[in-house]
Amino acid sequence: MDTIGHRLVHIDLKGAPFRSGYWQQLIPCLSRLGITGLLIEYEDMFPYERSLSDLRCGDAYDWQDMEAIITAANKHQLKIVPLIQTFGHMEFVLKVSAFRELREVDAYPNALCPTNDRSLDTVQEMLRQMIAGHQRWTQLDAIHIGCDEVWHLGHCQRCRQYLTDHCLADKSQLFLRYVRKVAEFVRKTFDIRVIIWDDMMRHIDDQTLADSGLNRLVEPMVWHYLDAQCFQLRDPELWSKYKHSFDRIWIASAFKGAAKMNQMLPSVDHYVSNHLAWVRVIEDNQLAERVAGLALTGWQRFDHMTTLCELMPNSMISLMMCLFAFNERDFNEDIQRNVSTFIGNKQLIPIDINSATDLEAIDSDVYPGVNLFKLCNEWQFLVKEFNELKSNQSLEGAFTSYQISLNRTNPLHIEAFLLKARVLLFRVQQMRLQIETEMKKMFYDTTVEEWIHTNVKPISKKLDKIVTNGDQQLATHINS
Ligand SMILES: [Zn+2]
Repeated sequence: MDTIGHRLVHIDLKGAPFRSGYWQQLIPCLSRLGITGLLIEYEDMFPYERSLSDLRCGDAYDWQDMEAIITAANKHQLKIVPLIQTFGHMEFVLKVSAFRELREVDAYPNALCPTNDRSLDTVQEMLRQMIAGHQRWTQLDAIHIGCDEVWHLGHCQRCRQYLTDHCLADKSQLFLRYVRKVAEFVRKTFDIRVIIWDDMMRHIDDQTLADSGLNRLVEPMVWHYLDAQCFQLRDPELWSKYKHSFDRIWIASAFKGAAKMNQMLPSVDHYVSNHLAWVRVIEDNQLAERVAGLALTGWQRFDHMTTLCELMPNSMISLMMCLFAFNERDFNEDIQRNVSTFIGNKQLIPIDINSATDLEAIDSDVYPGVNLFKLCNEWQFLVKEFNELKSNQSLEGAFTSYQISLNRTNPLHIEAFLLKARVLLFRVQQMRLQIETEMKKMFYDTTVEEWIHTNVKPISKKLDKIVTNGDQQLATHINS
């Protein structure tokens, strides 16, 4: 294990991208933790130019932002590995009308058509801009070109014709040949390493891989995010194939964003368990010598079109617990103590951090964004109270919309929940303001709006309705 050199943290900007100021706090913190590099998935936040300018979102970074991020990483000895999707998960490209014709299946913005010449042209230009953009301020050693979950292969007429013309029965040849072209382009043009997600190669045998030549061009990043109980990548044959095929292998675990699409706070024990499962797999298959590094992934959305999951400031303790557990190959009280010491908390941080109610002592200098974490932690207790209110007998059984529409309600029942609802509504409104204030320090307004709209508004709307209806019904009965 000691030979596994790199510890990359995956920064997923497809949701909740950071403002420049948060980068400047986060980078030194990650460096102090022993992180060696950043796997940055820019998606539509990269300042694409010229023919690609339509790929930028409204909040996209400008070159000044890029310089600030890259030079901060340089200063703290963090190597940047840009991650740019070039085949599957191209939603942020294929949703744009000018690039729609590159879809493999017209209805779905997921995968590029690999036999459309314009696909390769587009991807090459994206890579050119991404690599050259970074090399203004740093020397890249590697780039990650994605290529996971290419769910639509060989669907379009052109690809089917290609398979027929080349007498290919196996659709995975479309994958191998296209990725080889992309990887060759990067290697020849920029002479840097190429990393790809491994999942599309899991079921391709080693001879086919060797025949394709892809195994000499890329380094697979083997990803798996389930906990020890459900961990699936234990098959020694898979590891023997990868060891036989590739000189360097990366592994990717998860510390957030890999449980539920709309998860608000990470389940730390789940993610620690994932890391410990990886430790066992590395030991059982004697992979340490071959593994170049661990990438701790932190997904911000499951894909471009899904909602926000755990925000980075809410996931720092998960990251620390996972990293320390992986480093120590175990999880015990020492790990908890080390995390507690790192963030300046005198009390032992519990693994079930979301149940913790005494987070006040955490030092905001060493834990960027801790105030938001404290608020979200408090928020989930408020949500719990709201759910308890919803199951109040009088509210459920004596205050239905039908009963309200007929004014067939009884103040005795209404009084059983109305005060509680009114107090909760007030607290929700207060907390919304506090959360907005903290979020705006780290995130753009679009993120704040999305988070509030998704997490707070449905609750405040329901509470407001209960209070308004309750008041109206009471007034009706008192006046009549
Ligand atoms: Zn096609």
